[in-house]
Amino acid sequence: MTLDAAPLDYADPALHAQGLWIGGKWHPGGGIPVIDPARGLPIAEVPDAGIDAALAAVDAADAAAAGWRATPHRQRSEILRRMFTRMTEEAEALARLIALENGKALSDARGEVAYAAEFFRWYAEEATRIAGEFRRTPSGSHNILVDHEPIGICLLITPWNFPAAMATRKIGPALAAGCTVILKPASETPLTAYAMARIAADCGVPPGVINVITTTQPGPVTSAILGDPRVRKLSFTGSTGVGRTLLAEAARSVVSCSMELGGNAPFLVFDDADLDAALDGAMVAKMRNAGEACTAANRFYVQEGIHDAFVAGLAARMAALKVGPGTDPATQCGPMITRRSVQKIDRLVSDAVARGARIVTGGAVPPGEGFYYPPTVLENVMPEAPIAHEEIFGPVAPVYRFRTEDEAIRLANTTEYGLAAYVYSRDLARALRVSRGIEAGMIGVNRGLMSDPAAPFGGVKQSGLGREGGVTGILDFLEAKYLAVDF
Ligand code: NAP
Repeated sequence: MTLDAAPLDYADPALHAQGLWIGGKWHPGGGIPVIDPARGLPIAEVPDAGIDAALAAVDAADAAAAGWRATPHRQRSEILRRMFTRMTEEAEALARLIALENGKALSDARGEVAYAAEFFRWYAEEATRIAGEFRRTPSGSHNILVDHEPIGICLLITPWNFPAAMATRKIGPALAAGCTVILKPASETPLTAYAMARIAADCGVPPGVINVITTTQPGPVTSAILGDPRVRKLSFTGSTGVGRTLLAEAARSVVSCSMELGGNAPFLVFDDADLDAALDGAMVAKMRNAGEACTAANRFYVQEGIHDAFVAGLAARMAALKVGPGTDPATQCGPMITRRSVQKIDRLVSDAVARGARIVTGGAVPPGEGFYYPPTVLENVMPEAPIAHEEIFGPVAPVYRFRTEDEAIRLANTTEYGLAAYVYSRDLARALRVSRGIEAGMIGVNRGLMSDPAAPFGGVKQSGLGREGGVTGILDFLEAKYLAVDF
């Protein structure tokens, strides 16, 4: 079944999953409603896997493992490359599906599909370049031969904010490495994951190499999968809280873990920055996905000489954004994922205001259907307010004033997170010096967007363990095997 680029039709069965995807077959069922965040109404229902279905997915991944591991790298590469081509051909339909179930603006959804597909192209290329090693020991005692083998069956758990890209960033390297996988997407956005399972099957991925399950019991289901000794890898993207729980769970069976967790990115603007460039970057860093991104700028620190002009410029740009359903091509800021998200953002803003912050634009939940929060700018925010310490995950930009470089670095680091940060200055020496002082895995220097399949994505501190993408991303799915050789 192929999704075409026809206008969205909520009754179109092509938009709906046909069941759990296990062993190359659909296993029909229901139990998890998928809600359109623009209207707050269900658009589809997907199956609710229990432990038996989860273990059936492990069986399927195990049955496919030997064959996929033995598939020549070139052949794996060509299948991944077909998946890239197919996603690109179906980009418009996939973007519509993402905009429908996630709520993000169609322009953001198109950007996500292009980004997501690139992981298949990148790992199609990397699949043929898995290197080994051969050398003599320093003492001359023997030869060292190192091979890289697929790590084994992988459990991939993904969040709702990038339903395609978070899945391809894991599936691409896992398949390139020769692993079979079980993907558990977020309950809010399962349709994109199921659509990609169909694309993979159409492109020649053998049955059982990719399995997709949805569940309302992620804890027990994950526990059952990780408790199966055949499963050797957990790759998780989501909140730091759930990541901690899963690390503890994985410890019981000593499963290798990669963790892409939450963020609280500082966005630093120095007096010598190009103001327009900083505002352009701020809009991208804050408003991609309406602020629902782990890399989203969560705190704007602006030096006192440029502070007022920055606040005025940011407020003007934020107020001009068109808010509406993601599926409307004119929309620039879609709804939040759930009503609970709106309530959380509202709580953070109200608390900041109670502590003395001033709302420059936005700041009130609109009446009517859907889970909307307006683009909002706050100034005079107290550094101790919860909005400075929690992920906002919405279209709210709190702006803080600073005086010196040292103060900016100190403020930037006052968080348990360390995923992303942004620095704007025309003085490259200063920008690099400040970047060295910031505790983060990724820094945008005069750029509001850093994600790229060829670059290592990941965080330090409570933002995670390991890196996805880049030349090292595939190593998470490989195990080094050392042979001590005499000949
Ligand atoms: P979440 O609540 O942690 O959920 C993420 C995934 O974990 C979902 O599939 C969820 O399933 C599953 N899950 C929840 N509880 C679980 C449990 N006890 N055992 C096993 N799985 C469980 O996060 P989210 O709200 O979807 O996503 C937003 C978070 O992800 C933010 O913190 C954001 O910063 C982070 N994120 C990080 C990155 C990165 O690369 N660092 C990228 C994107 C997002 P259900 O949906 O069924 O509950």
